[in-house]
Amino acid sequence: EDLSIQDHAIRGTNEDAITSKLSAVNAGYIQDEYVKYFHKRPVKRSPLINRGSYVRNKGLDTLIIKFLEIEDGRKQIISLGAGFDTRYFNLKSSLRKFYKYFEIDFPEITAKKVAIIRKNKTLSEIIGDDARIGDTEIYGSDYCLISGDLRDFIEDLIPRLESNGFDRSLSTLFLSECVMIYMDPTNSNKIVEWIGTNLNMAMFIVYEQILPNDAFGSVMLQNLKYRNIELRGIHAYPDLESQKDRYLSRGWTHAEAIDMNEIYDLYIDPKEHVRISRLEMLDELEEWRLLASHYCIAWAYKVSNESQIVLYDS
Ligand code: SAM
Repeated sequence: EDLSIQDHAIRGTNEDAITSKLSAVNAGYIQDEYVKYFHKRPVKRSPLINRGSYVRNKGLDTLIIKFLEIEDGRKQIISLGAGFDTRYFNLKSSLRKFYKYFEIDFPEITAKKVAIIRKNKTLSEIIGDDARIGDTEIYGSDYCLISGDLRDFIEDLIPRLESNGFDRSLSTLFLSECVMIYMDPTNSNKIVEWIGTNLNMAMFIVYEQILPNDAFGSVMLQNLKYRNIELRGIHAYPDLESQKDRYLSRGWTHAEAIDMNEIYDLYIDPKEHVRISRLEMLDELEEWRLLASHYCIAWAYKVSNESQIVLYDS
């Protein structure tokens, strides 16, 4: 196994993520005026994929906003493997309050993100003109882009997060959107466990693939294999139950995991169902349900005060 070839292929998945997001923006599913700056080519993905991107984004946003609205002091967000994610820009321009937003990815990816932000006036203005911008990192007053390898989370990244303002005593949200699934579970679990044992107020939100063993799941794995990409985490956490246990057995007190069908049915306003069904024809409803059952959002949290649980659960 050549790790560098696989790392290269994994970094390539950032391109897919931003391409799909832009397609869903251009087709009217998602409102995000910043995605276009990170991907110039016009792209069009199938209605199935667009709907998937929409539900993923909506589900994650709902939980992130809930985290930000709970009143337990200043908030930090740490996005693991952030790629070209634009969430910071959206949250800030919608006047959401947070203390610091950190993003981590490989230097090959953050260098590109820095270059795009540096020459884009809209993006740099949101970060603020007091930000220091290096070749692969950005240090702003509420935004910090850090380059590194998540496999060195504890030894390398934690000290650098802390020297840039990360405060263990504050309520912190960790996001992993299609990231830990590519890592060896031994490495990703070190992250889950470190947070579970070192922070008192934390939330973890993960979006990733499940159900590798049925017909759909095996095709999904095979297609990735052709591209040298392995979903290393999927066999350790193949379903909703094991996704939850992953946190509960590592210091977290509460965990939930639901698939994207449930997110669509329970977390998305029926008015939105009507709106998106009018955007494009989607004949393959069964195929949509099947696809959606192979992705989940899992979230876990730790609170310093039991009464806060109500806030997370409501
Ligand atoms: N989270 C973003 C999103 O959903 O739009 C990007 C997702 S992309 C599928 C996966 C990202 O994780 C890539 O940008 C990749 O470089 C990053 N990544 C994977 N393994 C990593 C590691 N060990 N260290 C740092 N970044 C990593």
